[in-house]
Amino acid sequence: MRVHTRIIDIDDRSPQESAVEEVSAILKAGGVVAVPTETVYGLAADALNPAAVRRIFEAKGRPADNPLIVHIASEAMLPSLVKSIPVGAVRLARRFWPGPLTMVLEKSSVIPDETSAGLPTVGIRMPSHPVVRSIILQSSLALAAPSANRSGAPSTTTAEHCIEDLDGRVDAIVRSGPSSVGVESTVISLAQTPPRLLRPGAVTLEMLREELGEVAVDEAVTGPIDSVSRASAPGMKYRHYAPKARVQLVRGDVEAFTWYVNAHAAPGAAALCFIGEDKGLRLPAVLLGKGPEDAAHSLFAALRDFDRKGVQTVYVHCPDTVGMGLAVYNRLQRAAAFDVVDV
Ligand code: AMP
Ligand code: MG
Repeated sequence: MRVHTRIIDIDDRSPQESAVEEVSAILKAGGVVAVPTETVYGLAADALNPAAVRRIFEAKGRPADNPLIVHIASEAMLPSLVKSIPVGAVRLARRFWPGPLTMVLEKSSVIPDETSAGLPTVGIRMPSHPVVRSIILQSSLALAAPSANRSGAPSTTTAEHCIEDLDGRVDAIVRSGPSSVGVESTVISLAQTPPRLLRPGAVTLEMLREELGEVAVDEAVTGPIDSVSRASAPGMKYRHYAPKARVQLVRGDVEAFTWYVNAHAAPGAAALCFIGEDKGLRLPAVLLGKGPEDAAHSLFAALRDFDRKGVQTVYVHCPDTVGMGLAVYNRLQRAAAFDVVDV
């Protein structure tokens, strides 16, 4: 018989102390708990406890070569986790922390190999979501937390999606409101010169360049790489964020998109596009909102919804890659296993 995971309700804006204490106690005892953050829900455990961290990998079915991000809630927590704090990291922290930015730095010896997946570096983030912040502060633990989904599936942006993926596999799931950003944090490595963008997110490449000047863009941001050949961003797998449906990205203007998609209209097919782009479509369309911020917010829920409805093929109108569009494009490419057609 399946044992259901404990669900703990915590208010987004003013987290109840007793509930936060309950979650802290589970984490201090080496447990794993799904928690809300402003990017996506995370599956958290004590980042310095190798046995606890191994349980994250087991619950997700995550390959052990994929490093975890370590979450902190105050500047005071940073120095013991890393070897040095370059000046660029200070600049970025001052502007973007707390927020959706992860900095990869040389790790100190307190970070177990389980957390960093054997790399000499560690990704650190200070999230802004009041619930995860209070859990970190209450427990005084740095929390390792990847996205709270089964490995390979779209990240979870609601507690319901966490329950769908992780019920019976983790010690508790915190139920708060939906994540505001909707895609995972921006990841930038400051362990190399020039700094390198490893994963695009709500802190955009343009914003990073404003603070740092030159920022290199890893090939993984816009193209396929596999986890074995490239150790610097092992998370950037071939197929990732993928629903069961086949996803194809269609690149071109709205007319060309409409023409192409209508030519492929068939039972079980659907379209995913921005408001206004669905006018001439002769098949069901799900709308991503007006711009890239809306799209980021609703993307993963939309992908999960297609599976719930039994959709077999999804044609997606390729977004611009300016600003946060780059993050949306990056996630869509992976959901599509790099099946992109130019029309
Ligand atoms: P997730 O939390 O599931 O979104 O995955 C965390 C992602 O952060 C990984 O898949 C990597 O892409 C990135 N990351 C975390 N730590 C490091 C690191 N030390 N070096 C490079 N990338 C990292
Ligand atoms: Mg993930």
